[in-house]
Parts: sequence; structure tokens; C-alpha cells
Amino acid sequence: MSKLHVKKGDKVKVIAGKDRGKEGEILKAFPKENRVIVKGVNIVKKHVKPTQENPQGGILEKEAPINSSNVMLVCGKCGAPSRTGKKVLDNGEKVRYCKKCEEDID
Ligand SMILES: [Zn+2]
Repeated sequence: MSKLHVKKGDKVKVIAGKDRGKEGEILKAFPKENRVIVKGVNIVKKHVKPTQENPQGGILEKEAPINSSNVMLVCGKCGAPSRTGKKVLDNGEKVRYCKKCEEDID
């Protein structure tokens, strides 16, 4: 299990940085670096050289990773940005739960 509190596919809210307040889906998580890429958040412009598909070249807009501590999971059950806890089920499986509504997240 990753040590991040969020993972790919999670809906999160950005709580710090220039995109504070934005919500988006985690496109990619980098547990080792403690970073995540969130759809529509921390967009950087990248200049690209002309290619066959894109003969004009130009500027590509792409999400750059942000620190995972800058995002909070949006709970699918109560809809609020929530802190998550972890618990171990009787069968040994670890799940995250929402500390607000106490529903299991996965
Ligand atoms: Zn909840």
C-alpha cells in the first residue's frame, strides 16, 4: 500500500499553493517523491518543437506534480474535503476511511 493518503483516481481539493481551492482528479501519484499530478492543477506551459503531427510547434499545457500534502481527499460519501484515517479490517485488509463521516473510502 502506498504511503500517500491519496491515490490515482481520487478526487481531491487543493489546500495550498497557487491553485488553492481547485478540485480535480489525481491523474498520477508518485509515492516515493510524495507528489501527485492533479487534473487541471499546476498547469505549466511547455514549448514544443514542430513535429509531423503538429507542424506549427507551439505551447503545450500540462499538469506538473505538486506535493501530496497540498491536497485533501474529497470524500465520495459526504462530499467534503476530509482527513482520512486507516484501519485494518478483520480479514487483514487495510482501508482508508473518512474522518468526517467515518465511511470507508476503499
Ligand atoms: Zn465522508
